[in-house]
Amino acid sequence: MVSKKIKLMAVAALFAFGLALSGCGSKDGGSGTAVSGKTVHWKLAMSWGSSLPPFTDAVEQMAALVKEMSGGKFTITIDSTNKHKSAFGVFEMVKLGQYDMSHTASYYWKGKDTATLALTTVPFGMIAPEQYAWFYYGGGMELMQKVYNKQGMYSFPGGNTGNQMGGWFRKEIKTLADLKGLKMRIPGFAGEVLAKLGLTVTNIAPGELYTALERGTIDALEWVGPGMDISMGFHKIAPYYYTGWHEPATELQFLVNQKKFDGLPKSYQEILKIAMRLAAYDMYIKNYHMSADAWSKIAKEFPNVKIRTFPKPVMDAMKKANKALLVELAAQNQLLKEILASQEAYMKKSREWTRMSDYSFLKDNL
Ligand code: CA
Repeated sequence: MVSKKIKLMAVAALFAFGLALSGCGSKDGGSGTAVSGKTVHWKLAMSWGSSLPPFTDAVEQMAALVKEMSGGKFTITIDSTNKHKSAFGVFEMVKLGQYDMSHTASYYWKGKDTATLALTTVPFGMIAPEQYAWFYYGGGMELMQKVYNKQGMYSFPGGNTGNQMGGWFRKEIKTLADLKGLKMRIPGFAGEVLAKLGLTVTNIAPGELYTALERGTIDALEWVGPGMDISMGFHKIAPYYYTGWHEPATELQFLVNQKKFDGLPKSYQEILKIAMRLAAYDMYIKNYHMSADAWSKIAKEFPNVKIRTFPKPVMDAMKKANKALLVELAAQNQLLKEILASQEAYMKKSREWTRMSDYSFLKDNL
């Protein structure tokens, strides 16, 4: 939880920024009340259960900021899957206006539009700082909006997990043949890539992952990283923990019903945008903290966990399948093609700077 003091400081700074952005400074204020607007109450549906830090923290923080910045006039009720019972139904719920907004992940919607896939993360693609730069300054937000305009929704970055771990396996993967026939929970492009390598892939709601692994419905799964994985208990069943390749910068999303957003007073629109952006950033650093913390204890507290990296021939096959898949999907979806081309060009440019800055530093200082 962000401390009260820090939160209030953030509110003050962001509120000032929000007013500047919305250009409504003294018109709405002047009497000591932050915003004297109409009362608005929204409902948000998460793809998560009621407590899944840092995902649920991001949502709670966003709603708290909206309430404080609006002087208590704009409030958001948060419903988890415990209430609405459909982790992957939130897209339709927001589209149809049953909920005003959602916190979820774009790559869950590949069955509706493959262009949604590239807005979460791409295997072997950009890392979080590169991808955030692309979203906010490299044309990413505009492209994301093109995808969601078709659905009558807005999509905003909802917090990044950073580089994810490659998943939990019951058996060690020594060759490509060891992968064939495995049943694995792995969403997004990565699932499509592994399907090309002979796995049966599926997506399972977060709340059902442990049971699916325990009952043998799946042989392997990936979730996020040590900060979120260890508390799920996967290591008790599948001790081989692989380093990542498939989700270098998984961005969650706030999905917002377009008509509902457009109907908000301008100042509330800005408050919501600022709250979402701050909550997303805070989730990114909180998840980094949670994983660093869990990782520092893993060898001592969970000695049965065996850390592995996929052998080079396996990784080479994944890269090859990924490249072929991107070409194949892009040929079927013009907007996906445009997004992938934009990301590729941006990664080419930004990666040179990453190489000169972080990589050059780290390679001599680890
Ligand atoms: Ca994942």
